[in-house]
Amino acid sequence: MNDDVLNELAVLREFGYTHLDLGSSVPRLPGSSVVPATEEPRNRGTEEPSNEFDTLRSTALACTKCRLAGSRTNVVFGVGDPNADLMFIGEAPGRDEDLKGEPFVGRAGQLLTDIIKAMKLSRDQVYIANVIKCRPPENRNPEPDELDACRPFIRRQVELIKPKVIVTLGRFALQSLTEKAYGITSVRGQWLEYNGVKVMPTYHPAYLLRNPAAKKDVWADMKKVMAELGLS
Ligand code: URA
Repeated sequence: MNDDVLNELAVLREFGYTHLDLGSSVPRLPGSSVVPATEEPRNRGTEEPSNEFDTLRSTALACTKCRLAGSRTNVVFGVGDPNADLMFIGEAPGRDEDLKGEPFVGRAGQLLTDIIKAMKLSRDQVYIANVIKCRPPENRNPEPDELDACRPFIRRQVELIKPKVIVTLGRFALQSLTEKAYGITSVRGQWLEYNGVKVMPTYHPAYLLRNPAAKKDVWADMKKVMAELGLS
């Protein structure tokens, strides 16, 4: 068995799998059925200027609309393929993300990366962003006015990327994107919709680090996402 397969099996075991039902399904080769990365979001029938994503990024990098601008090291705009079919949206950068300027690179980020790998994708093939672009001090919860100030960025990212599916990670991501008071435990695993895009709300990886038993729920949610994207 080669290293890729062993790695894949280790990730699945991490997600609570004790056996695999191979049935009639033929495993996909890693990386097949994904859209190749290009530098700008594709125009899906619209007249969007191709550099609008870069303009948005530059605006975010210079943003001083809330108090978090005063304590950040880096603005954490987002990473991945701006043409991605799948977008993960988290809450806010933590210490590691603030230092690196990249979302989900700490412990919770490693778990998210494992989840993405278990879906037979890589971080380069999806887009990852947060509803808050600057680190709240001491990793406190974002304040309502900070969420309001930052909301236009994530909403414009969604408009430009035009993903087929958004996975929201935790309560803040779902509530801030949609501006609806969803309870995460009641809607987790159920398809919702935001501006014509299918949304799968699931638990935040940081919650999974504290409650590993919930990993199987997240994996069940990701299987729905894979089926929707034709990845399973
Ligand atoms: N948690 C988040 O919600 N986002 C990050 O980028 C890192 C941790």
